[in-house]
Amino acid sequence: MPALNQQTVTSVWDAITPNLIDDFGDAAFKSWLSPLVFNGVKDGELSLSAPSNFMKDWVVAHYEQSILRHSQASDITIKKLSLHVVSKNAKSATTDAGQNKKTPDAKVSVIRNKEFFSEEDFISSLDPRYTFDNFVVAKSNELAYAASMRVTESDKPIYNPLFLHGGVGLGKTHLMHAIAWQIHKNHKKKRVVYLSAEKFMYSFIKALRLKDASSFKESLRNVDVLMIDDVQFIGGKDTTQEEFFHTFNALVDQQKQVIISADKSPNDLEKIGDRLKSRLSWGLVADIHPTTYELRLGILQSKVEAMNMEVDPQVLEFLAFKITSNVRELEGALNRIIAHATLIGRTITIDTTQEVLRDVLRSNERRLTIDDIQRRVCEFYQIKMSEMLSSKRTQNITKPRHVAMYLSKNMTTKSLPEIGKNFGGKDHTSVLHSVRKITKLIQDDSDLMTEINTLQESLR
Ligand code: ADP
Ligand code: MG
Repeated sequence: MPALNQQTVTSVWDAITPNLIDDFGDAAFKSWLSPLVFNGVKDGELSLSAPSNFMKDWVVAHYEQSILRHSQASDITIKKLSLHVVSKNAKSATTDAGQNKKTPDAKVSVIRNKEFFSEEDFISSLDPRYTFDNFVVAKSNELAYAASMRVTESDKPIYNPLFLHGGVGLGKTHLMHAIAWQIHKNHKKKRVVYLSAEKFMYSFIKALRLKDASSFKESLRNVDVLMIDDVQFIGGKDTTQEEFFHTFNALVDQQKQVIISADKSPNDLEKIGDRLKSRLSWGLVADIHPTTYELRLGILQSKVEAMNMEVDPQVLEFLAFKITSNVRELEGALNRIIAHATLIGRTITIDTTQEVLRDVLRSNERRLTIDDIQRRVCEFYQIKMSEMLSSKRTQNITKPRHVAMYLSKNMTTKSLPEIGKNFGGKDHTSVLHSVRKITKLIQDDSDLMTEINTLQESLR
């Protein structure tokens, strides 16, 4: 690859990474976008390399428009995207078009002979820290915890599936791994497969591509326990969903335990077929509620103990009080202050904690939501919320609606599609249109400018 304008590239990519994560979520970003290598911007072309043809096609089909749109917002000279394949075996990538020798048959048979989900894969996909022993139980998670323990004890499923759901960072994956470890320990002979929904999809697509779907199906239908984490990921992915549905039914029919996690309850899952939703709620649905102060403090104490560290209880209380978003962030904060103290060699005080965690603490102050903005704007212009969310086009409604969209774009970190969704399912282009319109209007209309300033002031 020619040496391009590396400086720009890094910053363009850095600049758009948060937008891409915002649009597609961490998991998808990690699987499909972070493996891309950014080569540079030259003559209006943003150049990326993908590690395989498959990856390249996938990115083009699913992410190209978004990458382009965000890059253009950050660097207007970018006109198009070019994707190259740079595999470890560089030759096969460049001779793609003129295949001289046919090798795919050999590849397929190698895969056929290999187990799809080996024990090695299984063990290496589990985090050794995520055990029942390390899980702190409180009111908010006791049902999920008890149900998880229960499925590891009995031989035949009592409830099938076990469906765990709750917000991000509240311990779903931790419980899933704990179940897997425990079953592995208690019932050596049981074949347990733990997969993120994303990995499920990836393996399935790979099998399809290698014309090996039947051994994929077979290997999944022969397990004793199937665990699928973050099943919301297959929302809208119809072929994968269909395959999952069949696997699920086959296993439940044979009385094999299925355990699922998701960020929402079966009924609230988006873009998941009704048949599958109803099947998912057949067994036990256990939710994990947001953490309480006591649970957060308990988790911090147990982590500090596990690390064999000493931290002033007041500091732990301060963290438990301030960091309310989720356990992952709480742990991250604890790790940071401990790392800092270890490096500097000073004891941790509330003052140093405040200093080291300034950014986290700030983002944990109550976040302004689109809903807050809509309510305030409705109040201000004396319209009803239902009107705000409708598609009515009378002037007295459209103006507040445009203003609310404008404020949502400027005062929250939500993306245009997300904002559209919150306004009764509008398209991102109509949000963009509103934002642009207001931006333009306030340049000449000082009354509108004052209204917006007042609203902004009252929302802060
Ligand atoms: P989720 O899958 O729900 O997004 P995770 O299971 O990945 O969340 O949890 C995030 C982090 O918080 C993990 O490091 C996990 O160990 C920790 N955690 C969450 N809940 C608890 C708990 N009740 N006790 C101990 N650690 C917890
Ligand atoms: Mg998880």
